[in-house]
Amino acid sequence: MSGCIPHHRLQLCTIFALCFVVCQFVLLLILLQRETFKGRLLLYRDHAKEGRMLGWREFISHTPEQSTAFYQYNIQLSDTVGAIRSLPRTRHESCDSLRTYNLPHSSRAKVSVVICFHNEARSMLLRTIISLVSRTPEDYLHELIIIDDASRDVSLIEDLKELMVKMYATRSRLTLCFMRNHERQGLIWSRNMGAEAATGHYLLFLDSHCEVNEAWLEPLLDRLAMNATLAVSPLLDHIDPTTLKYSKGNELLKGGFDWSLHFHWLKRELSAKEAPEQPYPSPAFSGGILMISRDWFLKLRCFNSHLKIWGGESIELAIKLWLCGGQIEIVPCSRIGHIFRPRHAFDFPPQFDHESSTAQATYLHNSKIIAESWLDEYKNMFYVLKPAARQIPLFNTVQDVDLNRQMKLELRCQRFEWYLRHVSPELKAHFNELSAMGTLKNGYRCLHTRRTDSLSKWEVILDSCYHSDITEWRLLRESGQLSTATERCLGVEKNSKPPLLTMKPCSKHSTKMKAQRWLRRGTQLVHNETHLCLDNPLKNQLVLSPCRSLSASQSFQFALEMDKQT
Ligand code: UDP
Ligand code: MN
Repeated sequence: MSGCIPHHRLQLCTIFALCFVVCQFVLLLILLQRETFKGRLLLYRDHAKEGRMLGWREFISHTPEQSTAFYQYNIQLSDTVGAIRSLPRTRHESCDSLRTYNLPHSSRAKVSVVICFHNEARSMLLRTIISLVSRTPEDYLHELIIIDDASRDVSLIEDLKELMVKMYATRSRLTLCFMRNHERQGLIWSRNMGAEAATGHYLLFLDSHCEVNEAWLEPLLDRLAMNATLAVSPLLDHIDPTTLKYSKGNELLKGGFDWSLHFHWLKRELSAKEAPEQPYPSPAFSGGILMISRDWFLKLRCFNSHLKIWGGESIELAIKLWLCGGQIEIVPCSRIGHIFRPRHAFDFPPQFDHESSTAQATYLHNSKIIAESWLDEYKNMFYVLKPAARQIPLFNTVQDVDLNRQMKLELRCQRFEWYLRHVSPELKAHFNELSAMGTLKNGYRCLHTRRTDSLSKWEVILDSCYHSDITEWRLLRESGQLSTATERCLGVEKNSKPPLLTMKPCSKHSTKMKAQRWLRRGTQLVHNETHLCLDNPLKNQLVLSPCRSLSASQSFQFALEMDKQT
């Protein structure tokens, strides 16, 4: 019998084998579920959390009655879509599969998130915070600093504190910090307050109407850990203000600005082997959502605290970063949704000048500070485009100017010419396209265009240089066209005798273009086809006449000449 297995032992073996097979099967099922339903699991996880969010409905039910116009987005919808929802995956697949992120240990990469808000709807603010906390690895999320910038909903911050302390009671590593400005300080000062209060290694500045997408942090940390002087932006997805639909942002755009210091999206050229999802340098941030080492931000003296309320701060930080040894990158594998509102949802406190809108006056004030602090001789370009900025008073003390100079010395900041050459050739190209610009003065009067009495045509006259809408001109280097901002060009009527000046749309057609071509000879403007000079023989009248050297009536001065006058 030695070769035989007793019957009861055979039974036992069969039971063991069966158990083993069943266990393997169950294990396989669990694994399969995990893999195949990763997306769905996520959804369940989110909803489970939502279920546990004690009192969030109660919290939003205290939102004061306000209209869509007040918030500039669909408030009813915001109140109903839930505190968290699953978002479409907008980043490229390779961000999940191909890349491994080199993350620093969490003890060296504590992240402080600063969110300041003014008059944000409760549901919107809560969705921003909850999507952030749910989709950020616990180990890295060190603190949340939430600053209410004197919102009308006065009990919001206290209610929020109560709710969040309950919600995140088990998150022992997460510090929650709530502040309220009793007087409106604006976004710039509020964010600086947050940065100063922060204790983490990195700062993330986030708007209060965002939804953070899955795994947003890793791609940013990966870049920041490699380079201490880098600042990064996620790629901003769009949340539609009316439908709240979340859609993919464009990774072929970078941030930039024009000579009026207005933000613009610029097209990004991909090099031969560059994949669109790779991190890429950008002359400016894509809006105000950015992440940077706290130490580095403080060394750069935070957002310039002379700027007021809102506007220009991220352009100022961008210029400062690039010129003083830093860089900016947009990281498409990191996605955060943001509501781009059609217009400001808030008022601007009154400024110095009661004539222009307060938003306009604040913008001019802030832009003037940027121009004065960083643009060197190129600041004239800004003043030519925004002449009203010259009248705006700045209250910088001598000490402020010294501090700025000291920082430039300490950090060995480059001059603005360097930024044009290395960071924003687009801005440089715009500068190079022009040989002169701004108001065009003859004696004490300026060349001005206006509609004729019949309103069917445009005419050119001489008028007081102090009119607020006095025409600004551009003399284009290549074509010699003398153009207004609305693309009307000064030309001469074909075959007219005596030659008649015209204001017509700037032409791209070669023969018509010739009639609009002017040459600069000293301070004269010589019409290329007729070889006659622009002249003002009688008060207010413009004609073409044979050129006479040193004639005051033929001398026209632009506010800004790029070329030396011969
Ligand atoms: N904000 C603020 N105080 C202000 C103006 C704005 O705290 O005086 C907040 C605002 O609620 C938002 C952030 O600053 O969270 C950025 O403002 P906004 O979204 O209007 O800027 P945009 O996204 O249009 O650049
Ligand atoms: Mn915003």
